[in-house]
Parts: sequence; C-alpha cells; structure tokens
Amino acid sequence: MLITVIVPCYNEGKAIPFFYEEMKKVMADMTSREIEILFVNDGSRDDTMEMVKELSEKDKRIKYLSLSRNFGKEAAMFAGFSYAKGDYIAIMDADLQDPPEMLSVMADELDRGVYDCIGTRRVTRKGEPPIRSFFARCFYRLINKMSHIKIVDGARDFRMMTRQMADAVMDVREVNRFSKGIFSWVGFETKWMEYENKERVAGETKWSFWKLFKYSFDGIAAFSTVPLAIAAFFGVFLSMISLIGIVVIVVRQFLWENSAFGWPSMVCIMLFLSGLQLLCLGIVSQYLAKTYIEVKKRPIYIIKESNDGSMDKESL
Ligand code: UDP
Ligand code: MG
Repeated sequence: MLITVIVPCYNEGKAIPFFYEEMKKVMADMTSREIEILFVNDGSRDDTMEMVKELSEKDKRIKYLSLSRNFGKEAAMFAGFSYAKGDYIAIMDADLQDPPEMLSVMADELDRGVYDCIGTRRVTRKGEPPIRSFFARCFYRLINKMSHIKIVDGARDFRMMTRQMADAVMDVREVNRFSKGIFSWVGFETKWMEYENKERVAGETKWSFWKLFKYSFDGIAAFSTVPLAIAAFFGVFLSMISLIGIVVIVVRQFLWENSAFGWPSMVCIMLFLSGLQLLCLGIVSQYLAKTYIEVKKRPIYIIKESNDGSMDKESL
C-alpha cells in the first residue's frame, strides 16, 4: 500500500525544510503504509530545487519532477498526477497550511471503502485580508449558481483520493485546468474534513488579488457557459427597450411635432450601449481565447529533470 503525496512547489525554498520535518514525523507514525513524497518544482527561481535534491539524496522516499518553467500550480499538480505511483494519491501545499497529520486519518477513511476521496475545507479564513474572504465567498456562491458542478465553500486542493479517481482526473485533459471543478466533475464520493486556516510557515503566497480574480473567471468559464447566456440576455433585453422607445418617439412626434429632442441623453445611451456591446464581445472573446488555447493541444507541462528512472523526459 503506497501513498504518493504530490507537493507542487514554486519558490518554496524557505518552507521545504519545515515541511520535510513535519512529514518525517507523520511518516514515522504511519508505519503500516509506504509513503513517497513527490515534489513538483514548478520552475522556481530560488533554491527550491537544491533543497529537494539534497533531501532526495538523504531520503529515498523523496521523488521529484522539475518542470522546464513556471507552468502554474494546476499544471504542476497534473504533472504530479501523471507520475504518481501510489494506490492513494494526496495533494499538499509545501507551506504547511495543509496539516500533514490529517494524512493518516484520510488514509484510514479511504480504507473503509465508502469514500473515493477525502477533501478538506477550511472553516475559518484567519490571517486572510477580509476583502479577499468576501470575494472568495461571492465566487463560491456564483460558480455554484452558474454551473452544474458543486464546489464546497472553502474547499482546498489538499485531498487524498483512490487510484481510480486519480485516473479519472487525469483523463480530463484540458489545458485550462480548474482542479476544484475537475475533482467535483469526475464524480465519486467525497468526504469533507474541516480544519481551521493556518498561516504559511515561511515564504509568501503566490496569489495576488488580480491573479485570484483571473483564476475565478477561468474557473467559471471552464465549467459554465452562463456568461454567454447573460450576454445574449442583455442583447434581447435592450432590443426590447429600444423597440418600445421607437414606438414612443414615433407616436409622440405625430401628436406633438418637433418632439424628437434630447441630444445629451442620446450620447449617454450610445455610450452605455457601446460599452455593453464591448463587454459582451469581451465575454465571448474569453471563451474563444480559451477554445483557441485548447485546440492547440500543447502539453500541459514539460519535464526537465527528475530522479525517477522510470519517468521519461517527454510529457504527455
Ligand atoms: N504553486 C505552484 N506554482 C505556482 C504557484 C504556486 O506550484 O505557480 C504552489 C506553491 O508552491 C504552494 C501551492 O502551490 O505549494 C499553493 O500556493 P500558495 O501557498 O501561494 O497559495 P495559497 O495557499 O495562498 O492559496
Ligand atoms: Mg499556501
């Protein structure tokens, strides 16, 4: 029984020593299971790779993949999935925001055979700017309304799943990957475990507000076409209003001559409508751009280096 713990790392040189110390304790406690840690270095610019290599020489349970550049956490996770050999596969951040001691509980729960996946959600957002928590909550509400998949509020990527579910996740080969959605889309039974938010042990978060905003839109676009319908709705709604407007003006002109006035209001209406048109065009373009990226079928990640002989250099 092997558990692979995938750890995507981008500039985590400061956090990795702490992470390894904690994991060592957990691995020592879980004697009945074999555990391998698969670090995926996502094109870090700091000493992450050196740290990982050093650890892998000392500890044979440590495997690594190094991507040829920064492909983003989603791609790093996918790379990890592609190379994970475990019967159970877990994903964890390198910054110890995901408590490693939960791994053994998760594995025990999977052993019961009732669930295919044990997910985690944080019930508090301590240490996070309130404005970010507010937008995060809005995002979860929005995506759950707009798409068929259900995403639990506060769900983390930290989870453990069976081989069968991991294979299903890998069968979803889209380039614009939104894992929280994919995990839900593939189905299977997920049990949620709750924990309080922890602050990262060292280093800095890789997410700026703008990046999160973009990621949220990517998530919505990946699992919903409702924004396109909204664009169409605006079109229909405004056409109706303008029809009514035309009738009103024509009738008014017949009743009282020279009643077609209102240059300033005309300018405002025109500006408003052209703005709205561009907005809708923008929404459509976002989907088109995503389609464009998908049809190219570029590899999701490219591996530069790894310490596992069975891993080939070519990805996908
Ligand atoms: N990460 C990555 N590639 C990136 C950005 C982040 O592999 O381009 C990793 C990062 O090293 C960490 C995990 O993804 O292990 C989560 O990142 P972070 O802690 O910055 O996110 P947060 O916990 O603040 O949501
Ligand atoms: Mg983190």
